[in-house]
Amino acid sequence: IVSQPMIRIEGLTKSYGTAQALRGVSFEVPRGQVVGFLGPNGAGKSTTMKILAGFVTPTSGVAQVNGIDVSVDPVATRRLIGYLPENNPLYEEMMVRDYLDFIADVRGVPKSQRQTRIRSAVERCGLGSVLGKDIQQLSKGYRQRVGLAQAILHDPDLLILDEPTTGLDPNQIVEIRNLIKDLGREKTVILSTHILSEVQSTCGRVLIISEGKVVADDAPERLTTSEGGSVTVVLASR
Ligand code: ATP
Repeated sequence: IVSQPMIRIEGLTKSYGTAQALRGVSFEVPRGQVVGFLGPNGAGKSTTMKILAGFVTPTSGVAQVNGIDVSVDPVATRRLIGYLPENNPLYEEMMVRDYLDFIADVRGVPKSQRQTRIRSAVERCGLGSVLGKDIQQLSKGYRQRVGLAQAILHDPDLLILDEPTTGLDPNQIVEIRNLIKDLGREKTVILSTHILSEVQSTCGRVLIISEGKVVADDAPERLTTSEGGSVTVVLASR
């Protein structure tokens, strides 16, 4: 049996009215890879991830997860995907414990597995000490941990993380990056960011997107930034 790539995106375009967010994005990600999706604001990162997660319909092109077309069978593909959107909304007045229980319900985790799945996500994401707190009491770092726990509750094969460290302080950034690295040992991960050091510290491969097109696909070590710039990326000489 030939195994399918975890992600296959081919000729993806997306227009919002007259604004063309994606102009033909194509790439594949094999199972098990941790890939950075690097680009400046407005490059099309979030749009690509929303299409992959089944929340936005492309204007044209194909997006497949494990060989299944997202637009044809979004229910099947969502089961395979854990998606952490940018600015993930949380229910502020819910206790962390209750929130995870609620999400497990929404994601259709069978009752018999629920407690095991929640316990495992809590452990992975280091949430044991805050289970009894309301979400509104949590620091931004802990809120992102809740977001990651939420994303892995149904034990997906693929994690789609949209700018997971934006707005965090330096310590929280290190913690979340370490957590992502840990999750990447058993899951395929695509992680969007506009920070080169983020892909260098977490990813084995980087795709660079600019103005709605993938313009580079390489090992992160082969990229260097121009002076002081986190967004301007030039390819190291081959
Ligand atoms: P950011 O880091 O700012 O989230 P991004 O790389 O994720 O950037 P996208 O959010 O995918 O970029 O946006 C790509 C382009 O599409 C931008 O020019 C943006 O203004 C536009 N766009 C995105 N969503 C919409 C929308 N719902 N309606 C109109 N234009 C949109």
